[in-house]
Amino acid sequence: MNRVYNFSAGPSVLPESVLRTAASEMLDYQGSGQSVMEMSHRSKVYEGIINACESNLRQVMGIPDNYKVLFLQGGASSQFAMVPLNLMNRSRRADFVITGQWAKKAYAEAARYGEAHAVASSADRTFSYIPKLDPAAFDPQADYFHICLNNTIYGTKFPALPETGDVPLVADVSSCILSEPLDISRFGVLYAGAQKNMSCAGLTVVIIREDLIGNAMEITPTMFNYQTHAENGSMFNTPPCYAIYICKLVLDWLRDEMGGLEGMKAQNEKKAGMLYDFLDSSQLFRGTVEKESRSLMNIPFVTGDEALDKEFVSKAAAAGFVNLKGHRSVGGMRASIYNAMPVEGVEKLVDFMKAFEAAH
Ligand SMILES: *Cc1c(COP(=O)(O)O)cnc(C)c1O
Repeated sequence: MNRVYNFSAGPSVLPESVLRTAASEMLDYQGSGQSVMEMSHRSKVYEGIINACESNLRQVMGIPDNYKVLFLQGGASSQFAMVPLNLMNRSRRADFVITGQWAKKAYAEAARYGEAHAVASSADRTFSYIPKLDPAAFDPQADYFHICLNNTIYGTKFPALPETGDVPLVADVSSCILSEPLDISRFGVLYAGAQKNMSCAGLTVVIIREDLIGNAMEITPTMFNYQTHAENGSMFNTPPCYAIYICKLVLDWLRDEMGGLEGMKAQNEKKAGMLYDFLDSSQLFRGTVEKESRSLMNIPFVTGDEALDKEFVSKAAAAGFVNLKGHRSVGGMRASIYNAMPVEGVEKLVDFMKAFEAAH
């Protein structure tokens, strides 16, 4: 067996110990005689898995009791509609910070259901920074204020949360959830597609303050109403059973082997620090993001020469460092170094980049 170092932006690398446990339990989950893929979602044994997943997540993230955890499908992209359908119920207005493609999609989708207002944007410099926010531009009557906390494609992260007062802060945390501690009480809603930092594809996790549930627009499809899922323990219909099981294993790993979110943060800072330090000192490669806005998870970089970028990506792949090609809208390279990327993977990537630089 020969595993590569996988820098994919998503679906992405999973902890090897999680994959080993899943493999060992594939044919017979803990004496049940079945795979988790085969069992009824309403069975006692599956109930144990989904309940453990939720309680682990609550423990690891420190989720207060007045928040619901929902295990849904449809990806973060469905949340772009689900959030306005459920929350745009008073002034029917919401504020958005446009920091990249995902933020723009959330804004465009909300504009189909109400009045979406862009309070700031970093489109002028290809989303290479998080714009300074002027609270005077915030709508105090907005039904919510939306940010994409970590911008997967451009490699930026909000250095601080906006102060939105009584307006619920809603954040797409698809590519940074579980990477460091977050004060959940600052948010009305957090949502994430699980395939970046939590599990395999198929699961969408929503963490929502209870008082924001139950006021969906009349037109809201039953499956898009948070209340439907909150009242049924994410079991209104068949949940993404296997992805929830993998998520539970990832959370076990994070808690028991990585030291929870504090330990995870320390390791993530170490990994990102090694790569940024190299980029800052390199004569060939450079990062594309303003320093104060740098992401811990997604690190885009370029040589400045497209042909050389291409050569780097293909030589890196041949050496076992895969999925380093930048997003099609940006070009260059991007190393996604999610929780499950070991320190050693980044060390070896930096060594490879040094050797490539020396040869050019
Ligand atoms: C990947 C990603 C999405 C899209 O997620 P899907 O689950 O594919 O819908 C949205 N927002 C962010 C920040 C992402 O990284």
